[in-house]
Amino acid sequence: MDLSGLKYLIVGSGFFGSVLAERIANVLNEKVLVIEKRSHFGGNCFSLDDPDTGIHYHLYGTHIFHTPHEHVWKYINKFTEFNSYYHQVLTTRRNKVYQMPVNLETINSFYNLSLKPYEVEDFLAGEIRKEKMTHAPRNFEEKAVSMMGRPLYEAFIKGYTIKQWQKDPKDMPESVLKRLPFRTSYNESYYNSRWQGIPLHGYGRIFEKLLESPKIELRLNVDFFEIRDIIPANTRIIYSGPIDRYFNYRFGKLEYRTLKFEKEVIPYGDYQGTSVMNYADQDVPFTRIHEPRHLHPERSDYPADRTMIIREYSLLDDGSNPFYPINDERNQGLVMAYREETRKLKNIIISGRLGDYRYYDMHDTIKHALEIFDKIAESSGQETFQHVIANAT
Ligand code: FAD
Ligand code: UDP
Repeated sequence: MDLSGLKYLIVGSGFFGSVLAERIANVLNEKVLVIEKRSHFGGNCFSLDDPDTGIHYHLYGTHIFHTPHEHVWKYINKFTEFNSYYHQVLTTRRNKVYQMPVNLETINSFYNLSLKPYEVEDFLAGEIRKEKMTHAPRNFEEKAVSMMGRPLYEAFIKGYTIKQWQKDPKDMPESVLKRLPFRTSYNESYYNSRWQGIPLHGYGRIFEKLLESPKIELRLNVDFFEIRDIIPANTRIIYSGPIDRYFNYRFGKLEYRTLKFEKEVIPYGDYQGTSVMNYADQDVPFTRIHEPRHLHPERSDYPADRTMIIREYSLLDDGSNPFYPINDERNQGLVMAYREETRKLKNIIISGRLGDYRYYDMHDTIKHALEIFDKIAESSGQETFQHVIANAT
């Protein structure tokens, strides 16, 4: 591979790398080389048609695009149209289906009551008082119980969380729960975001458009660490791989949770009537079942006699598919140590989901990439990336 004269090298073709490639090529009018170690672009957002059923599905788990940020919504809409999909999740507990996140329907159905929104707070306060908690919540379990009382926690949160994290919720930070709304109305939307949907032609098409400039060269199946030694010294590198790998695990390995997906085509036109069904009971081994046909209600060409379902299992990552950062003291300490090392580097930005070791949704990733781009644009006349790095995190 001839890399002479290379000014911008982007490692990773997920949203972080692809948005920056698009901006550098189309706004700065500079050439960019994007390398990707997998055989496809798009990172964990990649989606494709199932060759057997024609149903479009997401290779690394259902990805719903949602954002509260208008500028991110406007930006992404330059590369795709979205359908009208609105994310709603259900959960099965002891063979009965409830709404998730926990809302007034879940509460009424679970307790067999018909509480009004103005009655529910007093009702839950009674449940919470039974805990006799005298201090502020100190962990995930205490936080959940102080919000909804023990019966709802044990029914819908405890078993799922143990399956997802394989940890006692008493040993987990309360921050994990912040991702999950808790509502005392009948609002059943999973997200609070104003804008959401699924790209009409899949995520793959977005990445084709992001990377379509003739100024961008994409090389698949290329691992940064195999070409690292031949990269010219003054190339500006944007690296969106794992931060600990970049430093050769100098201080130790960061831990992740990963997922195992079990795909099956079954002889029903519709298996579960919704795109995602969670399973709250600890003795059901999977956490949820995805049925991707429901992500595209506008598609009338899907088979009427078959559907695809995907069971999802959570496990500790062995390094091959790092998905969820584990936010405990050890890992946070390691990230801080690696970030400190980054500040000593001259010509590289390390960021994105794996570079920052943060759980970013797609819109967070795009927002962050656009912010970093503004700093790159400011520094484009300067000799190194130093200015960007100093302000990046
Ligand atoms: P990635 O998508 O991980 O891309 C990084 C890329 O770098 C990868 O393609 C990788 O192969 C490549 N790479 C790494 N190391 C090297 C190397 N040495 N050389 C070359 N290439 C390398 N977000 C939502 O908004 N909605 C959702 O519903 C949603 N669901 C999710 C479900 C799951 C199971 C997961 C794991 C995430 C989900 N997300 C969701 C988050 C979303 O996937 C991320 O926000 C997004 O993928 C982050 O983009 P990224 O470019 O930072 O990272
Ligand atoms: N959670 C739960 N029951 C559910 C769904 C979520 O207990 O039915 C908890 C669980 O601890 C999970 C967290 O809420 O890790 C965040 O859920 P979210 O759906 O945001 O997780 P993700 O989409 O990241 O898998």
